[in-house]
Amino acid sequence: MDASFDIGIIGGGPAGSTAASYLAKAGLSVALFESEVFPREHVGESLVPATTPVLLDIGVMGKVEAAGFPKKYGAAWTSAERRDIDHLGFKGLTHDFRAAEILFSERDQDGVDRDYTFHVDRAKFDQILLKHAQELGATVFQGVRVGKVDFSGDLPVISARLGGASVDIPVRMVVDASGRQTHLGTQLKVKVPDPVFNQYAVHTWFDGFDRKALAVDKTQADYIFIHFLPVVDTWVWQIPITDTITSIGVVSQKKRFKEFGGDREKFFWDTVASRPELLDALKNAEQVKPLKTEGDYSYGMTQIAGDNFVLIGDAARFVDPIFSSGVSVALNSARIASQDIIEAARAGDFSRARFSTYEAKLRRGVRNWYEFISIYYRLNILFTAFVQDERYRLDVLQMLQGDVYDTEEPKALAAMREIVRAVEDDPTHLWHGYLGELKAPSAKPGF
Ligand SMILES: Cc1cc2nc3c(=O)[nH]c(=O)nc-3n(C[C@H](O)[C@H](O)[C@H](O)COP(=O)(O)OP(=O)(O)OC[C@H]3O[C@@H](n4cnc5c(N)ncnc54)[C@H](O)[C@@H]3O)c2cc1C
Repeated sequence: MDASFDIGIIGGGPAGSTAASYLAKAGLSVALFESEVFPREHVGESLVPATTPVLLDIGVMGKVEAAGFPKKYGAAWTSAERRDIDHLGFKGLTHDFRAAEILFSERDQDGVDRDYTFHVDRAKFDQILLKHAQELGATVFQGVRVGKVDFSGDLPVISARLGGASVDIPVRMVVDASGRQTHLGTQLKVKVPDPVFNQYAVHTWFDGFDRKALAVDKTQADYIFIHFLPVVDTWVWQIPITDTITSIGVVSQKKRFKEFGGDREKFFWDTVASRPELLDALKNAEQVKPLKTEGDYSYGMTQIAGDNFVLIGDAARFVDPIFSSGVSVALNSARIASQDIIEAARAGDFSRARFSTYEAKLRRGVRNWYEFISIYYRLNILFTAFVQDERYRLDVLQMLQGDVYDTEEPKALAAMREIVRAVEDDPTHLWHGYLGELKAPSAKPGF
């Protein structure tokens, strides 16, 4: 049997279309199957600067700039509580807990040539990327759902369904970019739920929301804002989508959502009411979409590559949206995997060993993210303290920029881990009462 294409890609989100762009640019024949017809809506609207080198590399940055997405120069965190923790005493860490912020321009990052990234309407952004892949030569099938992939013969065979009909397409190699549907991970039974994280999100868009309402520095209105709520493990994102539209999402424990009997309206409004100034600002704006929910999004894979396949983006792993890392992981996993795939194609050998650079780099990047997310949920006052501490600020910023693939563990992570352990081990510690409920086995992340 001859292959119809070199590479078959499942899914046309940011991971799939980026991989298609790299591979088509390298002269490989690529078929991309997307079950939806674009544009389609998607959660995950705030980017980090680690997306920039990839968007430049595949030549799509001009189109992204031309789309006029709001520019994102930094990130800010707010809290209702004023906890001046200098009196809490920990190795000189002091800060005002009400607000913290970072600017991306504070730290140079390899391959990043501008001091901003973007907030994006994903319907538009994903369509730009998919169309770009097509223009570079990938064959894109929209409205075509991939069913089982048969790995039993010499070549993998993708069964693609359009309406009632099914077509078998032999390819030399399969890239799974199916997002949280984790198509191959589920088929191959390599998916494992995260042992710790089980958060839930309810989100929508508001027109006319006053983005300065909770900002301490009113010039930062177009930053992403993370508002901490006085409810355990609970926070709200504020992401500009256009001049007037803002995406607002509440993230909390899934078990808390269940306590509301699954009533998303009540859950959303009761939760934001714990920050009355946020509730007021939302009430003065117009909700322009129904509330949407996202759950069961924290998982890993025991295997992200094998003979004739790799998993990229959310199809490989997702943990939590707190640091807006998802799209950058999608783009960078596509970039790193594509380098291995291009070499494998040159060698005519698509066996698992060919993807070892990808496996190692992705695991390293994701381990750094996982550790950072775990520490954040376990002791979030530590996060804002570190952001404001000159000794650690650039290290934390490195994580927030998404610069995690080519470096060893940032120093701040080790320091934070040490502090968390000390606080956990000492019930009389002044910070002990601030520990969150999600306790990750930090030395052994669950993947
Ligand atoms: C609550 C929440 C908030 C988030 N906020 C952010 C944020 O602010 N910033 C950020 O960077 N990330 C965020 N993320 C993460 C972000 O949404 C994802 O990481 C990102 O979309 C992953 O891109 P992807 O290409 O891997 O998958 P997707 O974008 O999900 O694309 C996968 C595509 O595959 C298609 N597909 C699936 N199965 C099949 C099949 N069998 N056949 C054909 N096609 C198929 C789907 O239709 C889809 O279009 C958030 C996630 C959650 C849950």
